[in-house]
Formats: sequence, C-alpha cells, structure tokens
Amino acid sequence: MSCFKLLVGLCSEIESLIRRFWWGQKGERRKVHWVKWDTLCLPKKEGGMGFKDLTNFNDALLAKQAWRLLHNKDSLFYRVFKMKFFPNCSIWEAQDSSSGSHAWHSIIKGRDVLLKGARWRVGCGEDISIWNDAWLPSQEHPRILSDIVSGFEDGRVSDLINPSTRTWDENLVHGLFSPEEAAMVLSIPLSRTPVEDKIIWPFTPSGNPQQQNEVWKLIWGLNVPNKVRNFMWRACKEAIPTKHNLLKRKILNEDRCEQCGVESETTAHALWNCSTLDEIWESTPGFEDRSQLGASSVMDLINLTHEKRKNVDLLAMVMWTIWHRRNQLRYTLEVRTRNRGLGRLGSVHNSGLEKSEVSLLCVFEVK
Ligand SMILES: [Zn+2]
Repeated sequence: MSCFKLLVGLCSEIESLIRRFWWGQKGERRKVHWVKWDTLCLPKKEGGMGFKDLTNFNDALLAKQAWRLLHNKDSLFYRVFKMKFFPNCSIWEAQDSSSGSHAWHSIIKGRDVLLKGARWRVGCGEDISIWNDAWLPSQEHPRILSDIVSGFEDGRVSDLINPSTRTWDENLVHGLFSPEEAAMVLSIPLSRTPVEDKIIWPFTPSGNPQQQNEVWKLIWGLNVPNKVRNFMWRACKEAIPTKHNLLKRKILNEDRCEQCGVESETTAHALWNCSTLDEIWESTPGFEDRSQLGASSVMDLINLTHEKRKNVDLLAMVMWTIWHRRNQLRYTLEVRTRNRGLGRLGSVHNSGLEKSEVSLLCVFEVK
C-alpha cells in the first residue's frame, strides 16, 4: 500500500469489511451502522474512531515516497529512480510515462498530491517561478494571481530580491503585484546569507510531515537542564516574547531588533541570525560558520544540527544563554534609561558597550 496505488474499488471493499466487523455483522445478518463511515474516519481527538479512509491513506503513503525522492538525495532509492525516470529534472517536473513501472505511476500520483499542497520556502529565490509556483504565505492563495507583466514571464523570485542588501526590492514588488499580494511578499522574511529554496509542507509547523515528531523527541532527549528543554520547546512553538511575537499579538507596534537595529526580531533572528551574535557563535565549537546552517526557524535549525551530527545540547545551551542575557540586558537598559531620563532605549543600545559584555558572559556560562 505504501508503494502501489490500489484500485478505488478494492479500497471500498476492504472498508466495507472493516465496517461490518466493527458493527458486529456476521455472515449475511445485517446490523445497523449507527454512525456514518466518514465520522468514524475522523481522528479520535475530533470525535471519530481514527479509521483510515483507505484511498486517501494510500495517496498519503505514496506522497511520502515522492517526498523522499525530493529530499533524500543520497539514498539508493533516489539514485535508481532518478537515473531511470527523471534523469534531467527533479521529481517535481517529472512526467508520467507509459513505459514506467506500476511503482513509478503510483509515486507520480503521490507527487501530484504534494503538488496540490506543498509550498516553496523562499531562500535565494532562484528555483522559484514568480507566476507558476506556490510561494506566498497564504493557505488559500499561495500563487500570484496578479496579471503577468510583459518582460517578466519567466521571472524568478530572486529577481525581486536586492542581492547586495538581501532585502525585497519594494518598488518592483509594488509595481508588479496587487497591494494585498505585495504586502504578502514583503512579509516573507529573507535570510541574511543566501540559502537554498526549499519545498515545505505548510500544514505542519516544521514544514516537513515527518520532521515534527523527530524534533520533539530530540528536544526532550537533550542532555541539558529541564529549563533549557522547556525553553527550546517554547522557541519551536514561537512561544517566547520576542518583539515579533509580541507584535503579532498586538502588544507592541513595531518589532525591530534592538541589538542590530536592522531586522525584525523573530525567534530565529534573536537566537541565531542577528549580526550582533557573530562573536558568540564564532566562538562556539561546531558553529563557527553558521551560514552553513541556513535556517529560518529554530525547529529547522535543531533538525539541521542533528542531521549534520553537530552538538544539539550545545546549541540549546547557547541559545538559552543568549535569550537569558538578552532579557537581562533589556531589563538593565530599561532601568538605566529610566534613571537617566532618556526617552528611547535605542540610544543606549547603540553604544555597543553591552554587546561585548553579553557575548563574553554567554561563552563563559556555556563553558
Ligand atoms: Zn538583530
């Protein structure tokens, strides 16, 4: 079932056998089926019995195979199928051919399920077509609906990014798209360093249907104090009060990072990407060159750190320390600012005095 597409008739027949067994039907003596099958197929937490709609379940398993062909490029499975069925393109563009095996036809069906739901996460934007691919952060309209502008028919998302500042070219974005779409494009965060574009599954927080459970296992298995595990769980759930998270809840009305004063203070920025953290990460063994681990969320980062066999315990400890010091710094500065009668926090932050202090203390505490 996880490799081949089953006939719809066969799935219905199996479901019918399950239904009869469930309601206690023996032989030809009919029993009342009190609850309809669709309801029984809902998850238990939604009031169903968690039975599987076998046609959908079959499609989901095949989609997982297609997902493996998209992401596990070192596997033997990938190398054999790549050579045989899509030597010159990715599985994404692969065509179904009449000469293919039943397994290949089945995987293409799974790929089509992914095509309906998967989204691009913008990295450097070179692999993403502006008009054809799903890359907007919207469940309902992930594709650009504005009319294609002549001269931009083959445009890539990278054309909308200023390569030197790694920010959106706002004039171009406003010129090409409707105001709503332009706002959506400009809300997509861009990494400071060029990162590969990635296909994600937007219906799970990690963007990968299989990764989510893995990450929780990793976090709760970390060899660090409990408060640090809790902190990492909260960071993955976007449940720490960064300025960006406070802005989303309308507690603040701006979210500029007070350390660098440039980018918005998302969780990933506050703990990983901010340029003022260079010194700290450069002196953390295994994380000296963090551009190698381009990640847009803490969850991604934990997975990548684990995949690259780096020390996740150390990552967690340093992140916790960075956050702890950031809060102390913020609190101290607030008190100092009040005492000095200064109007704005920013003027004290820009002094740079506390930046070296914070990095030294962080490294010291971790050791
Ligand atoms: Zn910053």
